[in-house]
Amino acid sequence: MYFISTRGGEKVTGAQAIVQGLAKNGGLFVPEKFPVITAEEMSAMAEMSYPERAAFVLGKYLAEELGADYLKEICEKAYSAFEGNDPVPLVKVDGESSLYVLELFHGPTCAFKDMALTVLPYLLKKSCEVTGVNDEILILAATSGDTGKAALEGFRDVPGTKVAVFYPDEGVAKMQRLQMTVQDGNNVFVAAVEGNFDDCQRGVKNLFASEEFNAKLAEKGVRLSSANSINFGRLAPQIAYYFSAYLDLLTSGQIEMGDKVDFVVPTGNFGDILAGWYAKKMGLPVGKLVCASNRNKVLADFFKKGVYDVKRDFHRTMSPSMDILVSSNLERLLFEISGRNARLTAQRMKDLAEKKEYCITAEEKAILDEEFFGGFAREDDTVEAMYEIFDEFGYAMDTHTGVALAVYMQYKDWREKKDEKADEPIVVLSTANPYKFPQDVLYALSGNDVKDSFKGIKRLNLLTAMKPPKSLLELRYRTPRFKTKVKNDLGQMAKVILGFVSGEIVPTPDK
Ligand SMILES: *Cc1c(COP(=O)(O)O)cnc(C)c1O
Repeated sequence: MYFISTRGGEKVTGAQAIVQGLAKNGGLFVPEKFPVITAEEMSAMAEMSYPERAAFVLGKYLAEELGADYLKEICEKAYSAFEGNDPVPLVKVDGESSLYVLELFHGPTCAFKDMALTVLPYLLKKSCEVTGVNDEILILAATSGDTGKAALEGFRDVPGTKVAVFYPDEGVAKMQRLQMTVQDGNNVFVAAVEGNFDDCQRGVKNLFASEEFNAKLAEKGVRLSSANSINFGRLAPQIAYYFSAYLDLLTSGQIEMGDKVDFVVPTGNFGDILAGWYAKKMGLPVGKLVCASNRNKVLADFFKKGVYDVKRDFHRTMSPSMDILVSSNLERLLFEISGRNARLTAQRMKDLAEKKEYCITAEEKAILDEEFFGGFAREDDTVEAMYEIFDEFGYAMDTHTGVALAVYMQYKDWREKKDEKADEPIVVLSTANPYKFPQDVLYALSGNDVKDSFKGIKRLNLLTAMKPPKSLLELRYRTPRFKTKVKNDLGQMAKVILGFVSGEIVPTPDK
């Protein structure tokens, strides 16, 4: 199975795409053709455990090269680190309505990034083997809060790898920062960057593109790869949970094979929702994919008007992992709706970089209208939605999921107006444990403000009777190891990474 660049010119195998992360011309790797999962295969998948389902989906892209048995083994290993019997429980929040919540946050770092970042190190290791790459791999990631921790934890002390994470100094929640700065391991590095996530992501992309920087790394026998959702190896494991949610609805008798299901996805970099769209391309009966944004509603405007315009203020919100204006993975969608026109996709990305906007054609817009629904929630809409569901059904969710829930309500109204009898299930993807954002969640559910995150955890525990994750409680007793802060500047970012790689920058020893 081959992968091609959204900006043309390059054709590689799956293993090469995973090792490389990004195409040489800055494009993203996409499958040359979407593999299909048939209804018969789905019936067989219904009997499988989650790790088996995930391995089956991954196998459609990677089994030829990495081996079906290997994929099964690594999915078993990766998801055994999740809490509870089912790594991705589908919860019916109330008795009657069509609302389901797919909880994707039961992994080691309490956010949905674990779904892929627990698997990626294994995919990368084998991909290096089969492509004959012996260099040390440096995983370089920009994070809006959750990718960083999940990547650090996933690659911690994995032989042959190092992992370095840049986070926006003022753009992450307290718990997220603490989770990253106390990270254990001998191959990890964390630094804050002045500015917001877009600055941070641009800086990292520029490092990937810098020949000088890559040459300096190569001198040390090091090569870059990415843990952001621009890497296909990060995207692929995310496709699996869409299938799994559908199969859970099927086996519990809520739907019949072939019935459509809608998904609501709290969106930032467009990776999670793109995986849902890939699932649809592979044959999953998906109705609409609902793209939920917070106040940074570039995507909601894009779905409404067909113009992607980042000339606007950046807002910091209670859902920091969605505070993004430039959604990287949209490039993969643009590539598809343009009829796989690489030249046009490259031009649009150039327009985005230079003119800060691009627009799509009426034909392309019609495809989006058919497949997607875009909405956004202000902070008070989010709080209201979280409160309402907690008050009525006793279900507590995090602030990102709160955005999705607020947009779910808009979507449900829209759907009912269009077709009064529409009652297909709607699955809201829940992307983080509420305890990761304890102060904001406590405020939404009870109106109480507390100054300290750990006090927030305690109060939230009293209020909801939900068990707080041990990994978050333990943070209280840890001192940060990483204090590096850099300007939003390519030279400075390169310098600290080279310092880390050559062992000149040494963090305080762990524990
Ligand atoms: C990363 C993240 C999102 C957004 O996912 P994308 O793939 O970037 O669209 C939403 N919620 C949480 C909690 C996240 O960590």
